[in-house]
Amino acid sequence: EPALSIRGLTKVYGNGFQALKGIDLDVQQGDFFALLGPNGAGKSTTLGVVCSLVQKSEGKVSIFGIDIDKDFAKAKYQLGVVPQEFNFNQFEKVLDIVLAQAGYYGMTRREALPRAEQLLRDLGLWDKRNGNARMLSGGMKRRLMIARALMHRPKLLILDEPTAGVDIELRRSMWEYMRRINQDEGTTIILTTHYLEEAESLCRNIAIINHGEIVRNTSVRELLAEL
Ligand code: ADP
Ligand code: ADP
Repeated sequence: EPALSIRGLTKVYGNGFQALKGIDLDVQQGDFFALLGPNGAGKSTTLGVVCSLVQKSEGKVSIFGIDIDKDFAKAKYQLGVVPQEFNFNQFEKVLDIVLAQAGYYGMTRREALPRAEQLLRDLGLWDKRNGNARMLSGGMKRRLMIARALMHRPKLLILDEPTAGVDIELRRSMWEYMRRINQDEGTTIILTTHYLEEAESLCRNIAIINHGEIVRNTSVRELLAEL
């Protein structure tokens, strides 16, 4: 079964605006998948529905075969999410932020501490673990959200514009890290981006979304061959 399956997804916001107009999408297990499109296309809305942060209007969404309407509580264990906005408490310590996440997913402290250390070391945040999150640079805050999202070893990692506003050097090191968790750990990754270059460098398959509709769904290789 696919890591993610979306059928006939529509979203009409409270003000009457139709952000999604019937989206079908499958992302296979182990894939590194890009959802590419201009600002306002509907990328965040799509991911918001998958993460159950946005209530859909119509359609069906399954994560590893689990219908999110029937059992989101179960589906969420498979899911790690890195939203666009910083949504942690800036006045908490870095280590406490990732450990709190482990708590929500029922990990014991004995499991959580070594996992937190490994992730914070890999993401270059271990030296900052006892500092408040607000002292981190923008790029470090983004990496903190990645560490937090990976704590419970999700099989599907969703990143909304992970490198927006990140300088080129850090962007490359984040790309390297995402490649590693996809290749070495087999984590399925879906990211949204409006940089074709990012999709090209990282991803195997790509869907292009515009005005709430999927206008292409193909491999990155095939797309590049056409350009
Ligand atoms: P829903 O219809 O899904 O309940 P709402 O229309 O109530 O969503 O809006 C949810 C939140 O998004 C509100 O806080 C609102 O201020 C904000 N919002 C409204 N319009 C936009 C927009 N165009 N882009 C981003 N956020 C918006
Ligand atoms: P993207 O992530 O591709 O930039 P979004 O999914 O954030 O696009 O937004 C898609 C469209 O829906 C945009 O036109 C945006 O203004 C609108 N939108 C997003 N959130 C809301 C909301 N809460 N209420 C009304 N319109 C919204």
